[in-house]
Amino acid sequence: MPELPEVETTCRGIEPHSLNQQINSITVRNFSLRWPVPKNINALISGQTIENISRRAKYILIHLTNGTLIMHLGMSGRLHVLKKHEEAAKHDHIDINLANNICLRYNDARRFGSLHWTTDAPHEHFLLRNLGIEPLTDDYNHEFLLENCKGRKTNIKQLLMNNNIVVGIGNIYASETLFLAKINPQRMASSITITEAKNIVKYSKDRLVAAIESGGTTLKDFLSADGKPGYFQNKLNVYGRANDNCNSCGDLIIKIVQGQRATFFCGTCQPE
Ligand SMILES: [Zn+2]
Repeated sequence: MPELPEVETTCRGIEPHSLNQQINSITVRNFSLRWPVPKNINALISGQTIENISRRAKYILIHLTNGTLIMHLGMSGRLHVLKKHEEAAKHDHIDINLANNICLRYNDARRFGSLHWTTDAPHEHFLLRNLGIEPLTDDYNHEFLLENCKGRKTNIKQLLMNNNIVVGIGNIYASETLFLAKINPQRMASSITITEAKNIVKYSKDRLVAAIESGGTTLKDFLSADGKPGYFQNKLNVYGRANDNCNSCGDLIIKIVQGQRATFFCGTCQPE
């Protein structure tokens, strides 16, 4: 699943090829994504110019002259930059054709992604307005985290993954963060100390930034149809490593399920 770093890298990957370009047309081959794509999207956006590209949580915001396209990559979506015409393959659902002959092509095998159009302030859109704070801003700090941990009857891992509190700390990053902070993922959020909160904030930012940086080295792949940013090149300490040896102490990594999501941790390095 594309996580926040992959979405950030996608924004950075498409920006140099599409900024200040006029949209000649948009071709939609399959309108049935997670939410239906507006039937008249071509009439709505053709002729407008891409003025800015930004990210909010895992949404890509393509700001046009008169409104904003809000795209989500879902479980399997990818947005590519094509420099010359290539025949659309299976799952190539949307092409945004630009005046400089660049095509932004959206491919999504599982169709859990989406494309919305709004002429209102995008942050007021129903998909965005209840989202928590961005993890890479100064708003995400230990005071904020402690305030949100206070009195919560949930464990720290599920709290970190709650998008109404802080966005974009997905399963991988929550597991890796708690390993580095030496905190058991089953700990009640309300028991987190100031020092632990500082470590959680530090390591979650650090892991996300490292993943974005590793994605940055693969930006050239946006020019190929099958380019796939290499987020998983970063060494993972616990995620996906059940029954492997802990890199720190050598004991076996444990896998449990929390909120229907797999959690990985080391019972020795993260005793409580
Ligand atoms: Zn260990």
